[in-house]
Amino acid sequence: MEPLTGDQRETLEALYRRIDERVSSTTGSHAWWPCRKGCDHCCRHLAAPLTVTRWEWTYLWEGFQALSPEAQAEIRARVAELSGTERPYTCPFLDRESGGCRVYAHRPLLCRTYGFYLSRGTGNWCHLIRGLLDQHGDGDILWGNQDSLEETLARLSGGTLSLFEWFEAHPTAGC
Ligand code: SF4
Repeated sequence: MEPLTGDQRETLEALYRRIDERVSSTTGSHAWWPCRKGCDHCCRHLAAPLTVTRWEWTYLWEGFQALSPEAQAEIRARVAELSGTERPYTCPFLDRESGGCRVYAHRPLLCRTYGFYLSRGTGNWCHLIRGLLDQHGDGDILWGNQDSLEETLARLSGGTLSLFEWFEAHPTAGC
């Protein structure tokens, strides 16, 4: 696989940083916000295979390759098991015991924005957030624009595939 160029890495990391800053600002000012360390609800209830652009995949792949051979084999086995899975399903990157993401620093865009961004005016979030918003209101929340982010990344990077298709295209380490 072609690695990211210096410019591509810088652009992607800057985009991720901007998202992470917005997310921290929201969780920092709303103590009741559920998306924090310890909540893995969305990772355990993915409604469809994550789709990622080439840049996101290449960055994610770096995180995957840094894992132990045992962890990589476990993830690959889960990816293989998941073909034909009924919805919802648990992300193969989730450490099911600790509830932590095994590739957290390298996770793709959607994992960073879920819970904090709107797509075509509709919230991209789970029922836990919906219930809390009904209770607390959302008047002071600065929602992000998911469509604009995705369009920008797709234009820059291209090559969007599902996570499972990316794995199929890279069947062995180092491809
Ligand atoms: S890649 Fe990580 S953060 Fe994203 S759904 Fe999977 S376990 Fe969760």
